[in-house]
Amino acid sequence: MNLDLSIKNIADGLVGKLFSAKELTKEFLDAAKKKDKDIHAFLNFTEDIALNQAEKIDEKIAQGEKLGALAGVPCSVKDAILVEGAPCTAGSKILERYVAPYDATVVKKIKEAGAIIIGKTNMDEFGMGGSTENSAFGPTKNPHDLTRVSGGSGGGSTASVAAEECVIGLGEDTGGSIRLPSSFCGVVGLKPTYGAVSRYGVIALASSLDQVGPVAKTVEDAEILFNVIRGKDELDSTSVEYEIQDTKYKIQDLRIGIPKEYFSKGLDPDVEKVIRDAIKKLENAGAKIQEIELPHTKYALAAYYIINTSEASANLARYDGIRYGLSLQGGSSLLDTYLDARGEGLGQEVKRRIILGTYALSAGYYEAYYNKAQKVRTLLKQDFEKAFEKVDVIVGPVSPFLPFTIGERITDPLQMYLVDIYTVPVNLAGLPALSVPAGKVGNLPVGLHMIAPAFEEQRLFETGKLFEKL
Ligand code: GLN
Repeated sequence: MNLDLSIKNIADGLVGKLFSAKELTKEFLDAAKKKDKDIHAFLNFTEDIALNQAEKIDEKIAQGEKLGALAGVPCSVKDAILVEGAPCTAGSKILERYVAPYDATVVKKIKEAGAIIIGKTNMDEFGMGGSTENSAFGPTKNPHDLTRVSGGSGGGSTASVAAEECVIGLGEDTGGSIRLPSSFCGVVGLKPTYGAVSRYGVIALASSLDQVGPVAKTVEDAEILFNVIRGKDELDSTSVEYEIQDTKYKIQDLRIGIPKEYFSKGLDPDVEKVIRDAIKKLENAGAKIQEIELPHTKYALAAYYIINTSEASANLARYDGIRYGLSLQGGSSLLDTYLDARGEGLGQEVKRRIILGTYALSAGYYEAYYNKAQKVRTLLKQDFEKAFEKVDVIVGPVSPFLPFTIGERITDPLQMYLVDIYTVPVNLAGLPALSVPAGKVGNLPVGLHMIAPAFEEQRLFETGKLFEKL
């Protein structure tokens, strides 16, 4: 069976009785299990949950009931997002035996819309990394070249979609973890506006930056999934409801800004060429291209890694060897119990960030580091606000490099952090941004980054759909 299916193809197939939801689910599960021997996109398959849901969809069809927007659509869920009854490890040994007692709000929503959750996908431990090599369970390989990384932290979700192990995926983006692996795997990924999607039931990395978002093969499918998961949730006080602007953008009216800071030293010339060609295509189709300035870009990475580590150090304090997951018996005191579990259960990068973050938040340093980083954050936000007075969408690269080989950057944390250079300003400013496949270098995909003002996801979808046709 051809598994290169869109959400619409599946809706048509179910209604036209080309397949039942159960048949389709089995096809995808079988294919995913086979392909995953090489790719390792999944940490767990949720076969029972999937088949159960598929039966419900088939019953609905038999009864002639109306189907939800994602009826029968095989979906992967990043392992930082809780699915009731399924293990949820966030890529960490400390949560290896933790089973989620409830559904995250986003999971509840996709289930109600009829999605079939086929498994939980691999990630860098607690979302810390850019390649999935920090997963305690081994890296996810890039489906386009198995010697290379899939990107991170959500490389499992994007590889699962790229390899047609499922049709859509739920990811989570704190500093690029949806967009970077989407670029590396050649799929579409959206980081929504901060507050657009509920974080209830999502394992926190840095709470002021984290957002759940869709991964798909087309912009249209990402849009459908986003519209299912977005909206106010009583269980997350930072979530908001807002009107979607139903404007159809004409390419002739589009003003596109190209930040000159995004084309500086360090950008791989091969990546640059693909991005410049993509911009040329938009220009030839009638879009108005102009250079813009985002002058505080150079401080973004430093500010991000202070805020990220600070918030992570606080969020990860809950993994104490008592409340969740790994619990090592035999410690002679309470402190030993904590130290043993954290020493044994957490990986090197996680420990590094807890130490850095605890330092940055400590008395005497808080003003110098955390507070200063927050001020930089405001400056970055203002850079974007100024730019959006002149342009509708900002376009540039997602990553400065092509997917690198497994092992290439893992020994040097700074080399790994550099991969986030274009993605973190968006999280710091709370904006929505999309990665859309722009082309390839050899067989390696390159994603085009599109950034819009807060709550203007629709503008990204329209621009993305226009670009896909060029
Ligand atoms: N590479 C980023 C980091 O390591 C990605 C984080 C994320 O988006 N979860 O912090």
